[in-house]
Amino acid sequence: MTAAGIYIHIPFCRSKCGYCHFLSFPFDGGDEADAGAGERYADALLREMRLFAAARRGEPLLVDSIYLGGGTPSLVPARWIADLLDGCRRLFVLAGDCETTLEANPGTVSSDKAAAYRQAGVNRVSLGAQSFSDAELRAVGRIHDVAAVAEAMDALGRRGGGAGFEDVSLDLMLGLPGQTAGSWRETLARATDLPVRHLSVYMLDLDDDSPLRAPQAGGAPTLPDDDLVADLYAETVGDLAARGFAQYEISNFAKGGRSSRHNLKYWRREPVYGFGLGSHSFDGRRRYANVCDFGEYFRRVEAGRSPVAWSDEVTGRRAAEELFFLGLRLAEGVRLRGIPEAAESLLEERRAALEDFCDAGLLDWTGERLRLTRRGMLLSNEVLQLFV
Ligand code: SF4
Repeated sequence: MTAAGIYIHIPFCRSKCGYCHFLSFPFDGGDEADAGAGERYADALLREMRLFAAARRGEPLLVDSIYLGGGTPSLVPARWIADLLDGCRRLFVLAGDCETTLEANPGTVSSDKAAAYRQAGVNRVSLGAQSFSDAELRAVGRIHDVAAVAEAMDALGRRGGGAGFEDVSLDLMLGLPGQTAGSWRETLARATDLPVRHLSVYMLDLDDDSPLRAPQAGGAPTLPDDDLVADLYAETVGDLAARGFAQYEISNFAKGGRSSRHNLKYWRREPVYGFGLGSHSFDGRRRYANVCDFGEYFRRVEAGRSPVAWSDEVTGRRAAEELFFLGLRLAEGVRLRGIPEAAESLLEERRAALEDFCDAGLLDWTGERLRLTRRGMLLSNEVLQLFV
C-alpha cells in the first residue's frame, strides 16, 4: 500500500499580506462572530474527513505525512489542532514515523501553544519568517517583526524551556520591497544561525495589478530589480550548500536529509488528500478541489455531501507532462528507466529542444536521469514550459 499525505487547510489569518495568493480570510479569535464561524469550520473539517473515510467503504488509508497549512494554523486555538490530529488517528492508519507539520507565523506562537502542538502529535513546524529586516516585513504587511521570529523560535525550539521541536523549517522571501544584497545576506546569515534543518526560499510573486508594483511615493521602498534577485538566488544556493543545506528542490533546502516528506509527494505525483475550503487532492489518477465559498462548503458538508467542486482525470499525455513538469523541480530530476509510454513519446517529441537546453548548460541528460543543472534551476521556467 502506497502511503498518502493528508493536507488540512486552515483559511484564517490575522490580516492579509500584500502579496498573498492563498485562500485565507482575516480572523480574530477574540471576536464572537469570528470565533463562532471558526468553531463551525473546525467541526466541518472533521465531518469532511469522516465523509471521506466512509466513502472508502472500509478500505484503510495509510498516511505517512500530515500538513496543517493555511492561512495561519497557529492563529486558531491549539485545541482544534489536537482534535484534527485525533480525527486523523481515528480515521486513517498513521505510519509510526508520520511527518506531521504545522504552518506557523511569528506573532501567533506562544510557549503554551507550542507545547500543545507537540502534545497533539505535531513533529515539524514550518515558520513563516520571510525576512530579518523589520522594514521589509512592514513593506509587505506581515503582522510580525524580527523580534517575533526569535520569540517563536524560543517557544518552539530545544533551548531554554522551548517545546523541543527538532524539525523547524523557515520560509524566506527574495525580492521584497526595499531588499538589498546586504539585507538579504543578513537575513540568510541570521536564518542559518538558528537551529533549523530546512529552509524554503521563495521569490516574491506579484500579480500584475498588485499595489506593491505601483511606483512608490514618499520614499516608500521599491522592488529590487530582477537581475539582482536572480544573482542573489544563485549566490544563495552556493551559500546554503556551504552551510550544510543541500538544495533538493528549486526553492527548498535541507540539512541532514530532512527534506519535507509531504512536499516531496506533490513533486513525485504521490497521493495527497486535501480537506477544507478550496483544498486540492490527487489520488494517483484524478485531481480534484473543494469549493472555495464558506457558505457552500458548510451547506454541503453539514448535509453529508461532498464539498468537491471539480474533478479531472490526469492520465496518459497529461500525466506524462506532469511527470516532467513537477519532477524536474527536484534536484534528483526524473528517473527515465521504466517511465510510461506516453512519457517516452513526449521525451522524443521534445528531444531537440531538450538537447538545446543541455548544450546551454541548463539540463543534464544522462541515460538514467533528466535533471536541471544549478543554472537550470535558476532559469527553470524556460525548461519547464516545454511540458506545460
Ligand atoms: S500569512 Fe500567508 S496565507 Fe496569511 S495572508 Fe499572509 S501570505 Fe497569505
